[in-house]
Amino acid sequence: MITVFLFVLGLIVGSFLNVVALRYNSGTSIGGRSFCFVCKKRLRFWELVPVVSFVGLGGRCSECKTGISYQYPLVELITGLVFVSVFYALLPLLKMGNGIFLFLYVLAIAIYSIYIVIGIYDLRHKIIPDGLVYATLLMAFVFRLSIGGVWIDWLAGPILFAFFALIWLISRGRAMGFGDAKLALSIGIFLGGAMGFSAFVLAFWIGTAVTLLYMAGKHIHMRLFKRAKPLTMKTEVPFAPFLIIGALGALVFHLDLFHVLSFI
Ligand SMILES: [Zn+2]
Repeated sequence: MITVFLFVLGLIVGSFLNVVALRYNSGTSIGGRSFCFVCKKRLRFWELVPVVSFVGLGGRCSECKTGISYQYPLVELITGLVFVSVFYALLPLLKMGNGIFLFLYVLAIAIYSIYIVIGIYDLRHKIIPDGLVYATLLMAFVFRLSIGGVWIDWLAGPILFAFFALIWLISRGRAMGFGDAKLALSIGIFLGGAMGFSAFVLAFWIGTAVTLLYMAGKHIHMRLFKRAKPLTMKTEVPFAPFLIIGALGALVFHLDLFHVLSFI
């Protein structure tokens, strides 16, 4: 019952996150009815139901039949799954009391919701908005203060931040943006030592795999079509989405890839 409720809640919040990611820093207000970007038709109430509307409309605008991006139902589904999986991942915190558990859960899904917006924004614009990442920093700090932790839980954020800032400095912003460093700081404070470092390792594994596949694909494409564009190591793949997937995987599976650290 709670699973269905949280999933539906996540779908609804997810459809809102789509709007926020699209309109953030674009000059349009967050409020106001959604409309088709091609024919400007205002969407009716029944066209705004998460996932269901997309399927019902066959993925097309009811007026001009322009295809609607898969981003919309995908983000809604992901947010639904995040709301459910974070609930079960945080269940051990229930021993702190119902009130504090609810508070921590709301805080955690708020942080992940903003992470999702950051991820979409980074994919679209290759930049991480400062305002959003600062908001998660503040919430992550409140979360950490509430659950406490050993010294490594408090240092995970600054250590991850220093690592990313170093890459940013050495590569002169080419391999990694400074926004990635701030996001890593936020994830480290939020998840603490074991899960924070695991998130980071997971992000690098997935990031490396995807980048290699992407470069291989590009290489094959060039061979096939005899395009002589040079291959460079400059990442065209934004890193924030990988950090966010890592942060989610670490919490949901209670990952502790640096098990050794818990003995210090
Ligand atoms: Zn349209």
